[in-house]
Amino acid sequence: MSRAPAVTRAATAPGRRRARACLLESVRVGLLLSLLGLSACQPAGPGTNSADSAEPAQVAAAAGGGALEEELKQPIWQELERIEREGRSHPAASEHALHELQPRTAPGSLARVQLLAQRGYLATEMRNAGLTASILKDLEEWPAEASRRAAHLALLYVRARQQRFADELRQAERTMAPLAGYSVRETGPRLLLRCHDFMAYLLAETGQVDDAIASANEALRLADGMGQHWRRAQVMSNLAFIYHQAQQLELAQQFSDQSQAEVNLDPSPSLLYDVHTTRGIILQTQGLVEQAQQAKQAALDAARQSGSDALIALALGNFADFHLNQGNYPQALKFSEQALALAIASQNIDYELLSRHNRGIAKIGLKRIEEGKREVLEALARDEQRGADTTAASAWLELGMHLERAGDLPAAVDAFHQHRRRIDQVLRNETRKALLESQESYEDERRAKEIELLNRGNSLKQEQLRARDLQLWLWAALGGCIVLSAVLLGLAYQRIRRTNQALAHSNAALKTASERDPLTGLANRRHFQAAIKRLAEHGRISGSLFLIDIDHFKRINDRHGHAAGDSVLIEIAQRLRACLRDEDLLVRWGGEEFLILINTREASYASALAQRLLDQIAWPVVNHGMQGIPVTASLGFASFPIAPHELALGWERAIDLVDTAMYLAKAHGRNKAYGIASVAAVDDAQLQSLTADMEASWQAGQLELITLHGPARFEDSRQ
Ligand code: GH3
Ligand code: MG
Ligand code: MG
Repeated sequence: MSRAPAVTRAATAPGRRRARACLLESVRVGLLLSLLGLSACQPAGPGTNSADSAEPAQVAAAAGGGALEEELKQPIWQELERIEREGRSHPAASEHALHELQPRTAPGSLARVQLLAQRGYLATEMRNAGLTASILKDLEEWPAEASRRAAHLALLYVRARQQRFADELRQAERTMAPLAGYSVRETGPRLLLRCHDFMAYLLAETGQVDDAIASANEALRLADGMGQHWRRAQVMSNLAFIYHQAQQLELAQQFSDQSQAEVNLDPSPSLLYDVHTTRGIILQTQGLVEQAQQAKQAALDAARQSGSDALIALALGNFADFHLNQGNYPQALKFSEQALALAIASQNIDYELLSRHNRGIAKIGLKRIEEGKREVLEALARDEQRGADTTAASAWLELGMHLERAGDLPAAVDAFHQHRRRIDQVLRNETRKALLESQESYEDERRAKEIELLNRGNSLKQEQLRARDLQLWLWAALGGCIVLSAVLLGLAYQRIRRTNQALAHSNAALKTASERDPLTGLANRRHFQAAIKRLAEHGRISGSLFLIDIDHFKRINDRHGHAAGDSVLIEIAQRLRACLRDEDLLVRWGGEEFLILINTREASYASALAQRLLDQIAWPVVNHGMQGIPVTASLGFASFPIAPHELALGWERAIDLVDTAMYLAKAHGRNKAYGIASVAAVDDAQLQSLTADMEASWQAGQLELITLHGPARFEDSRQ
């Protein structure tokens, strides 16, 4: 499993862990994002200098002058800043230094608030519950009126970090919600920046990327005001990562480049680690494997320079993950062994479990399946024990993928089911909690007003959702916005119940019925058309599309009867569903045609899925009464926008294209999947002309196809 950019980011993030670059795009949304906010709030690494000094005049100017300006001129701030910057790669030593420094800050001063916020960060980072509790207590019992608001914000920050480390992201985000009401005059710029950065992380983690970007921009504005390159580099690197998650790769690239330029002006090892790691992730998504590897190497070098075992363990873990994704298992094993030793030495349980997981997966890849499986399951059980549910869920998914690659299909299927169950559980818990909370407070008058506003905001929220691209929408469905929608739905439901319960019910039933296929229970074309309006940004599709047509289905009807044909359709629908993640869209497109839309654009993921679909359709044969009916299918697929020119298409054109690929697969003998890997077209007109005769364009090298074969047909031997 891979780790996101920063050490500290990864520290306990639920998802951060299994960021399989190629395989698990949507999982990675959760995982990698979780790494985000933690780090920018962090100090950078040691060995820093120039802008390291706090530049109090600028800080004060940003803060708006007056008494605050006076206070920010105190030399103590330079000390705090130095520790903030260096502390991250050596949390225990930094905590010690801050502890020593504490008596030099006046009780009730803003410097004391800042110091406690930094200590709270480190205490939560190190999972030191006792220390965290005592810091919270100090902030609760704040002695001075003038800095009470700042102390309160620091309190919210430390509490929210504690919640986030307990895998309660939604709760953490709610804790931080009052942040919007705080000004730099009350808190000073550092604390506010730290909080906005953390909030950006929480929002991104819960799928609210627009708001995450707004919060990160606020952090950037504060960093600009402070005039420090290292802070700008850190915030920009985080922003790049959020844009990456939003699939806005151009912006991600821009911010990544800028953060690199900023860090070069005032470098430090742990900051370099972050910047290179983020860059590596973006490059990997762009398919630039060699450059991605170089960036990861640079990140590892920076980690080594920092002298922090934990950071090196994380960098090695990310490297191991990179090699796992490349199928380079011996290297992956080597790196995960090294990472494990360092993680144990630095007593970092997160990285230790990460390394154990990676090592197990590498062994599975090397066909030491039983041994590898045992290691992964042990790491997984420890994650589950400590309540890291989302981490565990993604670990199951990753395990399934690799067992499947290694050919242990029954175990892979089991792992996929475990994954689905965990995700369901996480969702149910979140939804239930959200509903309970809204119900409890419903009678409260002040809350009732808010609810009114929320309900009014519902349509606005829907608009926002519609405008969001497919990637975000699907992620939201996995755990983010769906929770909010559930709250809104719950509230709306209470109102409706009072006025017109029956109508609400029948409307819902009618809608469901009209968008479901009665035979298979899958969504139908009508549902797809409604959904795609929300999913496709400006009508353009983003993700991978698969069209599946059962081979010689008429013959099945003819030979075995129409009822048997129906059984085949039901069974195939179930098998397809089992290959997919909950957030993937599966539609019965026509008689014996199915359409799948997933949010992942990576070609390696799409072709692995296509292969799995072919395999699962063909084996085992479908049973109908006493008959075993062999079934195969032909498949066309493509990822959008289309490489290499990032050509974006509307959904109808996109379906035409995969339909053409599917027919070519039929023409070439059926039981095959043809995927369009790239087309040398810069616009739709060129695309039309190149795909009019797809085979000719393929032969001419203007169009690249991935060709996959289903298993040999079974009818002769097994029917
Ligand atoms: P090919 O592989 O070339 O596509 O051959 P095919 O037989 O699949 O060709 P075609 O797509 O023309 O045939 C589809 C058949 O599926 C025709 C139709 O009778 C049958 N069909 C459509 N819907 C249903 C259904 O709900 N149940 C059953 N049993 N058959 C259906
Ligand atoms: Mg057909
Ligand atoms: Mg057919």
